[in-house]
Order: sequence, then C-alpha cells, then structure tokens
Amino acid sequence: MQRTNRETTQQKKTCFFCLNNNVEIDYKDAALLGKFISSYGKIMPRKRSGSCTKHQRKMANAIKRARAMGIMSFTSR
Ligand SMILES: [Zn+2]
Repeated sequence: MQRTNRETTQQKKTCFFCLNNNVEIDYKDAALLGKFISSYGKIMPRKRSGSCTKHQRKMANAIKRARAMGIMSFTSR
C-alpha cells in the first residue's frame, strides 16, 4: 500500500470566507450566517461547511451572538 503524498494531493480551498475575501463576518448578517445553519438550526460542523479553523470559529461566534440578540433562532421551529 502506498501513502498519499500531501504535496501532490493538494485539496482545493473550500472555505467560503477565504475564497471571498471581501465578505465580512457580521452577526447582523443573518442571510449570510443562515448558509452555515443546518435545517434544524444547528451550526454546521467544519466537515460540512468546509470552512477553515479561523473562519469556522469566527462564524460560529457570530451565529451565537446573533442568537443572543434575537436576530437568529436557536431552533428551526
Ligand atoms: Zn477561511
């Protein structure tokens, strides 16, 4: 069995915020944060959203803040 080389099997960047540098993560932007919420109202895990560590945490914090401010709901119902 051969190990896959990290250099040759480079994955394309899928982080939405890294690809769109002009997009600012703002807790008031419910439309943007809504993209990273599952149908049950949960924050999407990094596996699903594809965000990098830095942006995933920033985005999760923004969603939590938005929930506390009443901009977004905690659950889907
Ligand atoms: Zn990123």
